[in-house]
Amino acid sequence: MVVGVHRPTQLVIDRQALHDNIQAEVTRLASGCELFMVVKANGYGHGAVQVAQVAKEAGATGFCVAILDEALELRAAGFNEPILVLGVTEPEDAPLMAQQHISATVAATDWLVAADAYLALAQPTAPLQVHLGLDTGMGRIGFKTTTELTTAVTYLATHATLNFEGIFTHFATADSPDETYFKQQVAKWQTLTAVLKERPRYVHVSNSATSLWHAACNDNMVRFGVAGYGLNPSGTAIPAPYALKPALSLTSQLVHSKQVVAGESVGYGATYTAQQTEWVGTVPIGYADGYERRLQGFHVLVDGQACEIIGRVCMDQLMIRLPHDYARGTRVTLIGRDGDHVITLQEMADYCQTIHYELACGFTSRLPRVYRH
Ligand SMILES: *Cc1c(COP(=O)(O)O)cnc(C)c1O
Repeated sequence: MVVGVHRPTQLVIDRQALHDNIQAEVTRLASGCELFMVVKANGYGHGAVQVAQVAKEAGATGFCVAILDEALELRAAGFNEPILVLGVTEPEDAPLMAQQHISATVAATDWLVAADAYLALAQPTAPLQVHLGLDTGMGRIGFKTTTELTTAVTYLATHATLNFEGIFTHFATADSPDETYFKQQVAKWQTLTAVLKERPRYVHVSNSATSLWHAACNDNMVRFGVAGYGLNPSGTAIPAPYALKPALSLTSQLVHSKQVVAGESVGYGATYTAQQTEWVGTVPIGYADGYERRLQGFHVLVDGQACEIIGRVCMDQLMIRLPHDYARGTRVTLIGRDGDHVITLQEMADYCQTIHYELACGFTSRLPRVYRH
């Protein structure tokens, strides 16, 4: 998709906010514990390369991504730090990862066997760095038993194409005030890792929620994601130990404004009909930009006031009710502050009955990302 640079709609990313969130967490970590910034899904929509740069300046010593292409993007941008791919990659790509010093998450020994065959053929100059994933209750990927884990560790120890660099797990409920399931996962993690005779370089369990609220579990690396972007992983359930600063705002401008009279309708399906004479403004953003159709009835800010989104959100435009006429070019804030009012991704997510993660990474590439500070 092209980037809409000739349209006055932008995602504005506050570098200082990113920096402050990440640095606040780095400062809280026990000595010897490193922070790898999670920049998957284009840095949760904020721009992976730009976020990685700020994270590095704020003290991050490595990065996590979801898929190999995201790791390659960082390497192409010149980052030399460790990068861990959190998802399962293709064994065929093991030589490429080894050559690029990109670490693989491994969830089964047959993957190691397949990768070893490709590595033996390609003979990259370095072994493939492997992090073993343990499934302690997330039910997604990873080894579940001590037998399976022991087999994998033995395989790694006896194959020079592979290096056992890390071991980790992922918690399903670290963002919940109820710690019952979290504690069960910790117990499984302890049982599984007890079979290790040697600790690899990186031992890690913490996403943002774990690092914020269960820092005692951290071990020697945290995979810090959503909180770095200034978003509370629990939504509003648990307060963060320091003020998280949301880094993303979304702004546009009125491209049209008009008066409608009682009985006139607005938008597809004519779902909104004016009850009286009112001013209607048009804003050039829609669901093709990731501004959800479900946001009909939500609001934006114009001149420091909340204005309701009336009628259905279209693919590329939406309509709002204005208190009076405003000139074309008047600023519209869809996320962020205008005067005394703020619209947060959290409020938008609550309105859409989803989580801020989904909205943040749903903004499409048509929206230009503009960096401030
Ligand atoms: C996405 C992800 C993270 C980061 O999670 P946040 O909640 O954004 O901090 C950490 N670890 C794994 C395995 C992940 O998939």
